[in-house]
Amino acid sequence: MDRIYPIVPELKECVLAFSTNDKKQTEHILIGELQEIRAALNGSNTARILSETKRPIGSLIADCCHSIPGVMSDIRVALSTEESSQNLEFWNNSINALNQLYNSNNESFKFFALRVWQEYKIRTKNSRRNTDDMSFFINFIEDLTLPVRLSLESIIQKGQSGLSDSPLDYFDNTLLNGSAKLFYNNENGVQEYIVADTDLMPVVIYSLKHIYSTHQYFQRCKVCNKLFLAHTANIPTLCSDKCRRTQSRLNKRKYDKAKKNISYEKDYKNSYMYWYNKLEKLKKAKVVNYEPFEKAFQSFCMDARVKKRAVKDGSLSVSSFNSWMLAQRTKADEIMSQLLAGQSHIEK
Ligand SMILES: [Zn+2]
Repeated sequence: MDRIYPIVPELKECVLAFSTNDKKQTEHILIGELQEIRAALNGSNTARILSETKRPIGSLIADCCHSIPGVMSDIRVALSTEESSQNLEFWNNSINALNQLYNSNNESFKFFALRVWQEYKIRTKNSRRNTDDMSFFINFIEDLTLPVRLSLESIIQKGQSGLSDSPLDYFDNTLLNGSAKLFYNNENGVQEYIVADTDLMPVVIYSLKHIYSTHQYFQRCKVCNKLFLAHTANIPTLCSDKCRRTQSRLNKRKYDKAKKNISYEKDYKNSYMYWYNKLEKLKKAKVVNYEPFEKAFQSFCMDARVKKRAVKDGSLSVSSFNSWMLAQRTKADEIMSQLLAGQSHIEK
């Protein structure tokens, strides 16, 4: 088994720069070396940016709502015990996970991979590995991954549904110890970028503040399960016209099914009464030999019960059940008229 190495570029000062455009309802994210991002925002065309995305607002927070249970601690353990080389399979799995984070479409995961690798390289280059270094590394990873270690989505959704004037009231102060820089550029007016080098919580708060100022709130679509922005926090809504169409199709199917169940039950009841009333009529008319009708009625009831079960489990269609019941009514008519005819024959 060959040893796998990270494909993550080694940077000196990796940052994530974030800005929102309230008019276009988009967010702009750049990840890369601090000076390169500074240059890019100043209009340089040659600045080397590792990742640049323009997405609908709320996308970075949605990225941070994905958890990576166990992945970061495996990566940390693999990086802290590299020299021992005792467990090559564990190392390879963990480095594969690191590479996957870097290659993912999740901008926060990409940033984590770059920062972890940068920090690891600095630690191993500058000093011999010691326990102080490793505890620093553990604390660093905990700060870095804070938003995904929290249940960010449930904190946000719970907070939003409260009646607080300030939607940020619901974050515990201990989560807000991190800091970030601000950058400005003068493209289409003054544009402000918040720049984080480790803790993404200031960026999360910055983004939430903008989102709430436009009266939008996070909801999870109950059709496609996507996290999206709705204009209300407390009334469940769907994310798109596509999901609204899907929902109305599902509603119609549910309604039709309920209606179908009612219609065949109702048809059965009507047919039963049809037979029953005819039998009563025969008895009232003092038809002496009404037993053939009674017998046919009993077998109708027995067959109908079997067929009703078949409709319920889907092996018989409602329309075949209906036409069978219709045929049974004709049969009841025939037996009755035969019996009445026989009776009148006797009377004559
Ligand atoms: Zn949806």
